[in-house]
Amino acid sequence: MKIIMLGAPGAGKGTQAKKIADKYQIPHISTGDIFRANIKNGTELGKKAKTYMDQGLLVPDELVVDLVVDRVQQSDCANGYVLDGFPRTIPQAEALDAALAKLGDKVDYAINVEVPDENIINRMGGRRACVGCGATYHVAYNPPKEEGFCDIDGEKLILREDDKPETVKKRLDVYHDQTQPLIEYYSSKQILKEVDGTVDMEDVFTAIVQILGV
Ligand SMILES: [Zn+2]
Repeated sequence: MKIIMLGAPGAGKGTQAKKIADKYQIPHISTGDIFRANIKNGTELGKKAKTYMDQGLLVPDELVVDLVVDRVQQSDCANGYVLDGFPRTIPQAEALDAALAKLGDKVDYAINVEVPDENIINRMGGRRACVGCGATYHVAYNPPKEEGFCDIDGEKLILREDDKPETVKKRLDVYHDQTQPLIEYYSSKQILKEVDGTVDMEDVFTAIVQILGV
């Protein structure tokens, strides 16, 4: 079962990807993890990626696709995998499909966790982070015991720059521009599945399990 997760930043696709990985016993793969593992192990691909990252540059698509394809050929992916945060653009998706096709492989499902922008802005705006230990809370879904203060060390909780509505809106703009076209792309390949991401996270997962089967 080879799955790609789609959805706006803050839609909860990472959480769902983890749950899928647990239930179906397949690896949850994010590009960040792949980069870190390759750099740590000093692989050729890792060394190449590091030269870009050290200069603060984006790792080129071809190299990212090479890293992902290398990862999905490892033995723990024999029964499938969940890709989280990749592909992000049409050229990446096309390059991934082409590389997998050469191996006689393909993606089975692209699951889009759908959440309207307004919900995402509200969700992110409710996040709070501890200035001391970095623990995160949410004013509605996961409030601290004492409002404004961390349960762990009692330090002040703040709204991070990344979670402010202006910043979230900018990230959503990038998403709509670059990543949302993937929905159309996978729809045309007839592997797109959409789930309502506005409901409780357990209910989102139930909907996904109905799609994937037991
Ligand atoms: Zn704290």
